[in-house]
Amino acid sequence: MKILLSEIFHSIQGEGPNLGRPSVFLRLGGCNLACSWCDSKFTWNPEISDNKVATINEVVKKIKSFPCKHLVITGGEPMLQQDKITAILKKLPGYTAEIETNGSISSKISPLVEQINCSPKLRSSGNKPYALKIKPTNKKAIYKFVVQKKSDLQEIKYYIKSNKIPAEKVYLMPEGTKHTEVLTRSKRLIEICKKEGYHFTPRLHIMLFGNKRGV
Ligand code: SF4
Repeated sequence: MKILLSEIFHSIQGEGPNLGRPSVFLRLGGCNLACSWCDSKFTWNPEISDNKVATINEVVKKIKSFPCKHLVITGGEPMLQQDKITAILKKLPGYTAEIETNGSISSKISPLVEQINCSPKLRSSGNKPYALKIKPTNKKAIYKFVVQKKSDLQEIKYYIKSNKIPAEKVYLMPEGTKHTEVLTRSKRLIEICKKEGYHFTPRLHIMLFGNKRGV
């Protein structure tokens, strides 16, 4: 069994409930969407992608080479390769994992992960609206919305109401790949979170390292 892989590296989780947790990032290749502001186009855009094909054993060996037993499975859209992720996790007893997804594909691997970071894409992403397949009744799911402009906030309000997502499961994160724009948007978002009872999540990797890969 082979997996389409982008990169594996050791860092800290820079977003969401596990912010700051040391993690091995398993970034898979391929995505079923094409967000205009995607900060990981190298995982799916053939013009800039350096994806490789790896065996399950090669991936497991690389993960085990780091002194860390928490995995962040990201992409791209990792739910496209759930069977392969399952095979990897079965070879990693004692590890915990969280998975990041755009929410357009049903999860078969919820029992194997401790958290699903679902990030539904809004109209400003340039994608057509799609049905949410990761339901809020899934206790492991949280919902992270990337906010680019003011109109996104109205859309988020409508989205969470129509999908029955409780405010305490919602995380707002500023869009941006530059330190100053992320900082300015963060300050605005914190006020919205205080008002609506959402969580705020920073974009720590951008704040610390800019738009650099593998850090
Ligand atoms: S869903 Fe995620 S990986 Fe795919 S294009 Fe959008 S931001 Fe990029």
